[in-house]
Amino acid sequence: MPEFCDVALPVPLDTTFTYRIAGGSPASTPTFTYRIAGGSPASTPVRGSRVLVPFRNLRLAGVVTALHDRAPKVAAKNILSVLDDEPALDEGLMRLGEWISHYYLAPLGEVFRTMLPLAAEVRRARAYRITTAGQEALHSSAHGGSSLRSRRTPAEQMTEYSVLDYLNGRAGANEAAREAGVRAATKASRRLLEGMVRKKWIAREETAAACDVRPQRRIALLREATGKLNANQKTLIDTLAASGGRLPVEMLSGLELPKSTLAGLVRRKLVEIIEEAAPFSLSGMTLRPEDFSLSAEQRAVLKHIEAAVTSKKFSVSLIHGVTGSGKTAVYLAALQAVLDAGRSAILLVPEIGLTPAAAARLQATFGEQAAILHSGLTAGERAGQWHRIRRGEARIVVGTRSAVFAPVTNLALIVVDEEQDPSYKQEETPRYHGRDVAILRAKHAGAAVVLGSATPALESFYNARQGKYALLELRERVEQRPLPEVEVVDMREEFRATGEDQLFSRKLVAEVRERLERGEQAMILLNRRGYSAVVLCRACGETVECQNCAIALTHHKGRNRLLCHYCGYQQAVPEACPKCASEHVQFLGTGSEKLEERIHGAFPQARVGRLDRDTVRGRGDFERVLNALDAGELDLLVGTQMIAKGHDIHGVTLVGVVGADFALGFPDFRAAERTFQLLTQVAGRAGRGTVPGRVVLQTYHPEHYAIQFAARHDYAGFYEKELRYRKWMHYPPFTAVANVLVRSEKLEEALGYAGAIGRWFEKRRAPGLRVLGPSAAPLSRLKRDYRYHFVLKSESRERLNSTLRALQQRLAEQKIPGRNVVVDVDALSLL
Ligand code: ADP
Ligand code: ZN
Ligand code: ZN
Repeated sequence: MPEFCDVALPVPLDTTFTYRIAGGSPASTPTFTYRIAGGSPASTPVRGSRVLVPFRNLRLAGVVTALHDRAPKVAAKNILSVLDDEPALDEGLMRLGEWISHYYLAPLGEVFRTMLPLAAEVRRARAYRITTAGQEALHSSAHGGSSLRSRRTPAEQMTEYSVLDYLNGRAGANEAAREAGVRAATKASRRLLEGMVRKKWIAREETAAACDVRPQRRIALLREATGKLNANQKTLIDTLAASGGRLPVEMLSGLELPKSTLAGLVRRKLVEIIEEAAPFSLSGMTLRPEDFSLSAEQRAVLKHIEAAVTSKKFSVSLIHGVTGSGKTAVYLAALQAVLDAGRSAILLVPEIGLTPAAAARLQATFGEQAAILHSGLTAGERAGQWHRIRRGEARIVVGTRSAVFAPVTNLALIVVDEEQDPSYKQEETPRYHGRDVAILRAKHAGAAVVLGSATPALESFYNARQGKYALLELRERVEQRPLPEVEVVDMREEFRATGEDQLFSRKLVAEVRERLERGEQAMILLNRRGYSAVVLCRACGETVECQNCAIALTHHKGRNRLLCHYCGYQQAVPEACPKCASEHVQFLGTGSEKLEERIHGAFPQARVGRLDRDTVRGRGDFERVLNALDAGELDLLVGTQMIAKGHDIHGVTLVGVVGADFALGFPDFRAAERTFQLLTQVAGRAGRGTVPGRVVLQTYHPEHYAIQFAARHDYAGFYEKELRYRKWMHYPPFTAVANVLVRSEKLEEALGYAGAIGRWFEKRRAPGLRVLGPSAAPLSRLKRDYRYHFVLKSESRERLNSTLRALQQRLAEQKIPGRNVVVDVDALSLL
């Protein structure tokens, strides 16, 4: 048996660590036992299995990457325990992780941590051990000494004595005791223990122990409440009722309710606590019955996908289907075919909480065969789903970005819905793109990939045009429904004609009024939260900025606060200018909160709902509003881009866009593409029922091509134009880009590092690689950090990768901390 193993640990260091496998001394053998659901303690690690190892003063779970007999230079520590008898990551997923680590320049251990949602199985706990100083203190006090005497009360001194005595009694003080144990035995408070740590009598450590992932403890609603409820009880009952009658017990703290609320309701037999495996049910969404058969276009696309799947060869297809063309029905039929063939499939969606109807549909179609991984799952539930998939009980996996790592066997198909959505890119290490990883995984597995969108990412459409992907078109809406007619209103004209700066054009007001009279519904988009975007002093011209970011604070009227949308900083609304004390403080610009208020003012009789991140706190909120719209209980829905995503509400016949084009001014080469996508998506919400839809698009840039092509539903036209610009500017798809961001709370440090990196790039001068910068990042200060960046472009991904690799090495040599330099390969945002 090999003597050593290399372990990838979830630490920000770009290396693996070598540990000894067998023959640990008794002192380092853990005294707690490990049990992982679905396995028994094993003794021999294999590549891909998790092990628990000591690392500095921590115990960490890592993944074994190799077994060997080469003794490392420094004495290797022993592994503490093997957590899996079968590898947690099979060879395919191990290779995928290694590729991600290489391509995105991320530490392998951090990649594996992202791939394995099993953190809940390894519990972290504080532990304490007695120090030599502590033993001396204990000793002298036992002999009547005075070192335990201090300003503390006699009771505290007694407790300190018991803590020292307790720890001293443990295995000759060699072994740390869990905090819970110490506190139970001595009644010591955490504050007292931490005080003893400061006096260096005891030392704190962290321990990790595997624990069983037990079925979730959940609260189940038993019956309608009769009799009086207090406010807390009512909150809990209402929340339960709105969530389909079941919630994890942990949710109590999220609702800020005391445990006694639950206990009271249990006593009255209104609810009970049950243990059950994580549910798939996540939606109280009402489903429209589906009794159609696929259209000829849909059937053709499905046939293509089925052939790709049965060939068992790697392929990528791109479905370019206009909004309302029935893409979801095609996905579901393809998934069903995979299931019937006894194989597995993964469906990636951008944000499952935002498409409750699709989730409900999936559940109705596949029931127990599907695992739905959504953001509402607790860590334990997530682990439970992982094991269900691993055991082959769930062969259809639906989830966001990280579901691409689901441990399915016999993978046949990965579908990436709304493949252009930026949420597929993870904005922390590892900075992978879910769609691109899906393609790589399928390539290794000989599986088919289907990308779907009404507005494919330029890169994807380019690949399709180049013949790398099969292009499948759905040109028509289902049942020959027309795409909505779009009318562009030039708001500069509107100002000239009315002499007033209005939020709503006369056209939009007239169209909304008509809808209300006819009992139809309308959606109005303004892609900005809050009430006023800028707070400005008329006297000195100062805008009120965030303390931590170079960003204007947004006024939120309902909360009566100024908020930073980037870091969460908030402050009171100033009555006078913070700089010159003038009282002429002005609130400028409009967000969705003001939009709602103005709509109420303009149409007092209408029932108005609003969707944005301020009104949607939990998943329940989102569904409630959409259900109300679908049920005809609302006339108008206003909101941010949340209202633009895939909803299918048949009563909506009008979409108004009052603010979407300020994004065009962002210093980002994807600004036009993002605007085109948003406008197309939101326009696509109109006219999905029997009555044709209409769109009123208010803009200050009517001549801009993103607006023009969106108004004509002309994706291909937009693509051609945008492609020319990208080619001219050497941007994707013609090059690969990486963003190298330098950041520090200290301005001089940020400048110093940026300068050093700049000189290194200068000297290196790699052929075929353009380096722009250093320049101040468009968000020049964010979350207290000053930010500078370099944008790298290259036609060769290998060259880009090797340069970044060399840079990382250089940073390590110069001891520039990893925290200060962020490397983002295929960056979606250069802000
Ligand atoms: P997309 O995602 O392409 O915008 P959806 O998948 O949301 O479109 O489908 C739009 C609507 O059309 C849904 O209500 C769906 O149930 C319905 N639908 C799908 N296919 C058909 C069909 N062949 N005939 C009638 N209705 C259909
Ligand atoms: Zn001022
Ligand atoms: Zn901020």
